[in-house]
Amino acid sequence: MAEKKLCFIGAGNMTRSITTGLVSNGYPATLIHATNPSAPKLEALQQTLKITTSHDNLAAAKEADVIILSVKPHFMQDVCEQLASLDLSDKLIITIAAGIPAKRYRDYFGQEIKLIRTMPNTPTQIGVGMTGLYAGDEISSEQKSICEQLMLSGGEVVWVEHESELDQVIALAGSSPAYFFLFMEAMIDNAKASGMDELKARQLVQQAALGAAQMVKQNPELSTAQLRANVTSKGGTTAQAVAALEAGNIRGIVKQAMDDCVARAQEMA
Ligand code: NAP
Repeated sequence: MAEKKLCFIGAGNMTRSITTGLVSNGYPATLIHATNPSAPKLEALQQTLKITTSHDNLAAAKEADVIILSVKPHFMQDVCEQLASLDLSDKLIITIAAGIPAKRYRDYFGQEIKLIRTMPNTPTQIGVGMTGLYAGDEISSEQKSICEQLMLSGGEVVWVEHESELDQVIALAGSSPAYFFLFMEAMIDNAKASGMDELKARQLVQQAALGAAQMVKQNPELSTAQLRANVTSKGGTTAQAVAALEAGNIRGIVKQAMDDCVARAQEMA
């Protein structure tokens, strides 16, 4: 990636994850600036990554080629209105906030902006995240590539063609780590109730989940239904367990969960 001056507005969890990934992949720390109102997070970033930090959003954004908006959604309007006094025509703006549509940023800034919306998930914090990306027609392929490289520091990326598809990204990847945690929690609780040690149950479940995900990833030519069939002998234990899940309407439950997730994302927009 052509090395651009980056300014992260907000130095919380996501900024820490992305900047850590960037610096460990060789991005020059001297080109990264992060701002935050309180000092401790800035001090930690400055000490561990040697990036520039300050409390001054406006001065930092003024110097940057790329501004990454990394505050909670309820602070976004204030932050954008503060930056609106800058000429943003030559800058790329990337937002990682959930819910806020691109049009609303244009209203906040009150000028034409080059904005890319991104939807990361929490495993981004450990480098195995998934980020959905959306850019309008005004964004050049070079700008898309800059954003893609930034977000690849936290894992994988998928572009969506329409902004509305980011709601599906939330249901499939943004919120879904919690669905998998719940599934694992239920399995561990059940093993505990049968007398198994919790740590042992957790180790068994976490490795099974990791193995299942790796098998899906490493066998793109096989559908998940085929992978399941491959490990399900007729009349065997797995067949019995899968039949119980189907009888309990697991597909209907998952559909309801995802539909509710999308509906909530739309309400919040
Ligand atoms: P976070 O840890 O709370 O970080 C946000 C930071 O913004 C805080 O350090 C906060 O400062 C700072 N801040 C507040 N007002 C500010 C202002 N006016 N100027 C500059 N900085 C300001 O939140 P996060 O988890 O990193 O999330 C950041 C964004 O990513 C959110 O919009 C969230 O929806 C989105 N997101 C997060 C995840 C995730 O996995 N965490 C996943 C997808 C999307 P203080 O230290 O003073 O509080």
